[in-house]
Amino acid sequence: MNKEITQKIQEVFKSEFNESPLVIASPGRINLIGEHIDYNGGLVMPAAIDKCIYAGFSKSGSKKSRLISLDLKDEARIDHNKLAISTTQTWTNYISGVVDGLQRRGFEIPYFNLVFAGDIPLGAGLSSSAALENAVVYALNELFELGLSKGDMILISQEAEHKFAGVQCGIMDQFASMMGKEDHVLMLNCNSLNFEYLPLELDEYELVLINTNVDHVLSDSPYNERKQQCIDGLSMIQNEYPTIKQLAHASIDQLKEFKDELLPVIYNRCRFVIEEMARVRSAKAASKIKDWKAIGELLYASHRGLQHLYEVSCPELDSLVDQTHEYDEILGSRMMGGGFGGCTLNLIKKDSNHILDKIVKTYAKHANIPASIYKVRASNGTKILDLN
Ligand code: ADP
Ligand code: MG
Repeated sequence: MNKEITQKIQEVFKSEFNESPLVIASPGRINLIGEHIDYNGGLVMPAAIDKCIYAGFSKSGSKKSRLISLDLKDEARIDHNKLAISTTQTWTNYISGVVDGLQRRGFEIPYFNLVFAGDIPLGAGLSSSAALENAVVYALNELFELGLSKGDMILISQEAEHKFAGVQCGIMDQFASMMGKEDHVLMLNCNSLNFEYLPLELDEYELVLINTNVDHVLSDSPYNERKQQCIDGLSMIQNEYPTIKQLAHASIDQLKEFKDELLPVIYNRCRFVIEEMARVRSAKAASKIKDWKAIGELLYASHRGLQHLYEVSCPELDSLVDQTHEYDEILGSRMMGGGFGGCTLNLIKKDSNHILDKIVKTYAKHANIPASIYKVRASNGTKILDLN
């Protein structure tokens, strides 16, 4: 827990509303492997991390909900009878989107106060947006006793992202943030939503994120375009194999049958998805026998696919991954998240700060911006904090 942030939220709540809030911690997430797989109905291996959105809530007697973002030093008031997508205060969309989703399910949502801040870097591919949505839905469920299950809440958060943020994301981010478990990864089937927890005991290794600090704008067309390309490839395959409902469930041999008919770019997108799905299965088997070397190789292979077939990497991400090949202490590295910026995920021997320093120095020379380093641990999902 980040005490500095929760204290600040309590102070602001006291001065603005003269009361103590209900405080929620809602984590960001990493994804060990299975990138761009969730919206193709396959298997993914995410984990919630020890970086969170912290959000204080209380019921309000006013005629609008008052929202205060400490990190952006901004505030807004929203009218639940006139919820609209904001183009000027885009951060409010994640909150309005959740209220809208609840209303569409027939709940009347009274007005509330919200003060929030976090230590998840924004727009870095760690799903600060899902963390925020989950914090809001979790708190409103508690405050107004809506009786929602975690499964309901995850779907409401995802819908907020679709309808109010314009990102046609899969279910992984909201699921991992809500359901995370300390020192475990989730093995999630994005089609059935069945999942299991796999222990993530990395022994002498650890997971380190390196942030390119390059902006990625997911709602920009590339993400939604990839999704459409996968749909296009799948419908071709379905002409011959109508029982395949999701691209991740096609085999590479089935795809090859359509090589001449598919545009090369669509073929490559599909090939990546099918190969990545196979890599997730291999990673699961490797994690059970703690074969971290094998997992490292799978991370590298995933990155190559994302770079050359799915084409969602960028020079800054590639340069970070390329550098890691020089060091035996690093078993694997890949870009993580939607792409075009954000972080690389690295499986690295503990106490290798000297290596991370070198990588960051070299990066700064080429990229003209500094990279940031975050060591992360698999952590628990969205929860209420007991601050007393
Ligand atoms: P990611 O989910 O990978 O971090 P997104 O672009 O999907 O990136 O979501 C980032 C957006 O979520 C921010 O631009 C902002 O609108 C909102 N957001 C996330 N964290 C915060 C925060 N701590 N304070 C205010 N807004 C936030
Ligand atoms: Mg996001």
